[in-house]
Amino acid sequence: MASAKALLGAVAGRFLFRHGEVTSVTKLSAQFTRIDVAGPELAGAPFVAGDKVQLFFPGVGMRTYTPITWAPDGATWFVGYAHGAGPGASWVRTVKARDPVALFGPRRSIDVAGVDGPLVLIGDETSLAVAVALCRAKPDRRVDVVLEAHAADELRDVARALELAHVTVTPKGQLAPAVSAVLTVGATPLFTGRAASIQSLKQQLTGLGGKTKAYWADGKRGLD
Ligand SMILES: Cc1cc2nc3c(=O)[nH]c(=O)nc-3n(C[C@H](O)[C@H](O)[C@H](O)COP(=O)(O)OP(=O)(O)OC[C@H]3O[C@@H](n4cnc5c(N)ncnc54)[C@H](O)[C@@H]3O)c2cc1C
Repeated sequence: MASAKALLGAVAGRFLFRHGEVTSVTKLSAQFTRIDVAGPELAGAPFVAGDKVQLFFPGVGMRTYTPITWAPDGATWFVGYAHGAGPGASWVRTVKARDPVALFGPRRSIDVAGVDGPLVLIGDETSLAVAVALCRAKPDRRVDVVLEAHAADELRDVARALELAHVTVTPKGQLAPAVSAVLTVGATPLFTGRAASIQSLKQQLTGLGGKTKAYWADGKRGLD
């Protein structure tokens, strides 16, 4: 049976959501897919790099993804990681051109509008999109990216294909040495990805400051 949240979403969605259409789907690797979306209702949306959108899946609810760029005519794109059998992952695996899309946003998530210096973006497979978004938004800014991954070689290859220049990919649970290696004085760390990894990293490397946004947590569905 559809949850109350999903039903509310369906009714409210007609008024709240922007509606678009998938314009192309590009398989980047076994688990990563680029999904391009466009439509007149997406035109002119107030987007800054680091923003999120919530995609509406009828009968299920919302799942959060990161637009990488957003053109004035409403063309945007996502990189989805298919990690399991949840509705978000299933969408990433099965989405096709001309599928309808309903989304809420864009809204602020990782906000670096007031940060001029270098960034160190820390996360996992789900953070690839925000890393690319932040790098493309300000190409002259140094952005080091440190990601933990189940399949490190796969994520490294996809990151390279998306033209990320300064990326370190570690096995799961081994972020700390890689973060220490790139976190220079004056750089702002941005913590994203798995909640437990962020917590563990902050226990290992204390007093880092920066900004934090957990993208998912073990056992929690549709965290955001
Ligand atoms: C601000 C923000 C931006 C995000 N941007 C992106 C993005 O651009 N691309 C992207 O792929 N994801 C992104 N995510 C993460 C994505 O929203 C979550 O992974 C979400 O849980 C996927 O929904 P689902 O339906 O597949 O799984 P759910 O139904 O939400 O969860 C099912 C199960 O899978 C587990 N799970 C969720 N994510 C993962 C994972 N990555 N690895 C292993 N287990 C997991 C959950 O703990 C739960 O037990 C973002 C999240 C936030 C909050």
